Amino acid sequence: MLDIRGNLAAVQDAVTRACERSSRKPGDVLVIAVSKTVEVERIARAIEAGVKALGENRVQEAKEKVAALGRQVPWHLIGSLQTNKAKDAVQLFDWIHSVDREELARELDRRAQGHGRRVSVLVQVNVGEEPQKGGVHPDALKPLLDAITGCRNLDARGLMCIPPAADSAEASRKWFRRLRELRDASGLEHCSMGMSGDFEVAIEEGATMVRVGTAIFGPRAPRPAVTEGGA
Ligand SMILES: *Cc1c(COP(=O)(O)O)cnc(C)c1O
Repeated sequence: MLDIRGNLAAVQDAVTRACERSSRKPGDVLVIAVSKTVEVERIARAIEAGVKALGENRVQEAKEKVAALGRQVPWHLIGSLQTNKAKDAVQLFDWIHSVDREELARELDRRAQGHGRRVSVLVQVNVGEEPQKGGVHPDALKPLLDAITGCRNLDARGLMCIPPAADSAEASRKWFRRLRELRDASGLEHCSMGMSGDFEVAIEEGATMVRVGTAIFGPRAPRPAVTEGGA
């Protein structure tokens, strides 16, 4: 049987070691357990085992899970978000990692206001400047952050990236470093970067949030392909 508790402990140990290597405090790194495609029963076990945050990449899927599990821990939206799903997103999620355009920020702000919610947001940055990928171009980050600062119901808390696909964790290091530099220049607190295969390198480069799915829940069953989360 899948040992979620053991997996979580192993991930937490690896976080601690990466923090020691880089003179950081383990308490400064939040492990977000990415539960996309994982059924409610296993997510409930992960909550019991002590996960502190859950990450989903589709609004519809999260809706069913939040209805079943409630808000025992905060829910983070880590997948791309269509503007027409902003209304559901602000009701479901405490954190949205994928804000990458002003139109979306304004719609989230408007919907958050309507529901009396405040939402913490991260700006997704296309660090590799890949044409097909979500995320704001690094050159357009500053104006987008300025626009979000003008949104009364959104708190800009940091930056997020999904670096270009690579065959080794080491190959992602320069992209993680780039996000950290952009984060430092922005004066914000959080860097959401690193997944199961490369979260240790991401922590060495300054991640404050890592998004870990398979290392906690085991391999995901394949589902019909969509581009980049498709939330
Ligand atoms: C699925 C996903 C993850 C987790 O990936 P794993 O390799 O399973 O850890 C992290 N971030 C995003 C944006 C994802 O879509």
